[in-house]
Amino acid sequence: CQPILSAICCCVQAMIRLLPYQTTTGRAMETSRALLIGGRWQAAADGAAYEVVNPATEEVIGSAAQAGAPDVKAAIAAAEVGLASWRRTNPWVRSRVIRRISQIVEERREEIARLVTIEVGKPIEQSRGEVQATWELFDWFADETRRIYGQVIEPRGTSGHQTVTFEPVGIVAAFTAWNFPVLLMSRKIAPALAAGCSIICRPAEEAPGAVLAIARCCLDAGVPPGVVNVLTGLPNAITPAIMASPKVRKVTFTGSIPVGQMLMRQAADTVKRVTMELGGHAPVIVHDDVDVTAAAHLSAVAKFRNAGQVCASPTRFYVHESRVEAFAAAFSARAAALKVGDGLDPANDVGPLTTRRRREAVEAMVEDAVAAGGKLAVGGRRPAQPNRGWFYEPTAVVGAPEGARLMTEEPFGPVAAISGFSRVEEALERANGLEFGLAAYVFTNSLKRAHETSEALQAGVVCVNTYVAALAETPFGGTKQSGFGREGGALGIRDYLDAKFTNMAFL
Ligand code: NAD
Repeated sequence: CQPILSAICCCVQAMIRLLPYQTTTGRAMETSRALLIGGRWQAAADGAAYEVVNPATEEVIGSAAQAGAPDVKAAIAAAEVGLASWRRTNPWVRSRVIRRISQIVEERREEIARLVTIEVGKPIEQSRGEVQATWELFDWFADETRRIYGQVIEPRGTSGHQTVTFEPVGIVAAFTAWNFPVLLMSRKIAPALAAGCSIICRPAEEAPGAVLAIARCCLDAGVPPGVVNVLTGLPNAITPAIMASPKVRKVTFTGSIPVGQMLMRQAADTVKRVTMELGGHAPVIVHDDVDVTAAAHLSAVAKFRNAGQVCASPTRFYVHESRVEAFAAAFSARAAALKVGDGLDPANDVGPLTTRRRREAVEAMVEDAVAAGGKLAVGGRRPAQPNRGWFYEPTAVVGAPEGARLMTEEPFGPVAAISGFSRVEEALERANGLEFGLAAYVFTNSLKRAHETSEALQAGVVCVNTYVAALAETPFGGTKQSGFGREGGALGIRDYLDAKFTNMAFL
C-alpha cells in the first residue's frame, strides 16, 4: 500500500498547491501569508497581515503578510549572505539553476496562471501567456549568465595588462506593479540571478501570491537561501528602509512616473543604481495605405488585453482622415464583440479592472473626454452583468480634443482615443507631444513610410503592423519620462553589472 499512500499524498499536496487561497488551514494558507527571508517562509515579525481581494468578485481570497521594519532588516541581512555565495558561484552552475527555474515555472503553469487571474482579474488564457513569457525569460537568462564577456585593452607601454571585467552590482531591490505580476518581477529576478546578485522583491500589494509562487520555483530549483527574498505588504512600511540602506546597491522599479520619481530622489541619498520602467500612453499612426479593418481588429484585441492595463497598451490612435470613420467603426464592432466577465471563465475576453480606484479613474477620464467634445463610439459604462467586480466595458472615444485628460494622461484601462490626421508631420507632432516615450505603433504597407515614421517616433519600442512589443530575447524599456534601462534581450543583464577596469603594470 506504500505506492497508493504516496500517490494520495502527492495528490493532496498538488491540490493544496493549486488552492492556496481557498483554505484557511494547512500549509497552503501559511505559505500565502508568509514572507520569504533567507530561504525560510515566515510570518511578519509582528504577525501583521492584510487581505487580498479578487477584483472579479470583490471577495477576499486570502491574506498576505505585512512586512515591517524588522523584516526589512532581516531581508537585507539575508541578502548579504546570499550575495556572498551566489556571486562566487560558477556561471555554469548558475545557468543550470536558472534553467531549472524555467522548467519548474512551466510545470506549474496552471497553478500560477490561476493565481494571476484571481489576483488581478485577467482572462485565464492571458495569464497562461504571461506565465509562458516568464519561463521563456528564465530560459533566456540561463544562457546570458555564461556570456558576461569582458575586454582586454592593449596597454600604451611595452608591458602590462589592461582589462575590463563585469561584477554583480550587489543587493538589488525590486518593486513592481500588479498588471503582469509574475512577468514584471521575473524580468528583475532573472537578470539579477544571471549577474550573480541577490534580490529583495516587493510585489504589488494586490498580487502577492503570484510572486510568492515564482519565489517558490526559485527555491525548489536550488537557488541558495538569501539570494531571492520576498517582502509583501503596503509600500510605506517596506520601501523607505530599503531605499535608505547603503547595503542595497540597486533599485529597479516598474510602476507609475510619480512613484518612480520619488524612488529616484530616495536613491540619490545612497547613490544606488536605478532602472525605471514607468508609464506609457502609446500612439498608433495608421496610414491611408493599409487594410483598416484588419488594422482595427488587431488594434481592438491589443487595446483591451488585460483590460487595457498594460504600460505599452495602444491608447492614442491617429488615423488618416480618409480612413478614420472606417477604422472607428471596425474597431468599435470588434470591441463590442468582446465578452466581459470573470477571467476564470475561458469564454471571457476582458476581465475587470484590478482595483476599484483604477475603474473610477477610467470613468472620470471618459466623462471628461465626452464633456470636451469627444463622441462615444462604443462602451463608456459599467456592464449590466456581471454586477459585482470592477468591470468596465471596452470603450472608444472618437475626436476628443488634444487637451482632454484622455489625450494627455495615461488611461491604464479599457479606453481608446481615436482621431484623424491630414499630414503625417501633424500626426507625429501629436504622437511625440507628451512626456511619455515607452511604445509606439505604425500601420502602413509602405517600407518608406514604415522607416520614416518609426524613426521619427520618440519611444523605446516601435512596432510596425504588429503589437508584439516585448519578448525574452528583445530589449524593453522607455525614453523620456517613461524611464531608462532595458529589460530582456542581450542588454537586460547590463543594468545588474558594474564594469571594473584593471590596469596592471609590471615593475
Ligand atoms: P504605482 O506606481 O502606483 O505602483 C507600482 C508599485 O509601486 C506598486 O507595487 C505600489 O505598491 C508601489 N508603490 C506605490 N507607492 C509607493 C511608494 N511610496 N514607495 C514605493 N513603492 C510604491 O503604479 P500602479 O498604478 O500600481 O501601476 C500602473 C503603472 O505602472 C502605470 O503607470 C504603468 O504604465 C506602469 N507600468 C510600467 C511598465 C513598464 O515596463 N514600463 C510595466 C507595467 C506597468
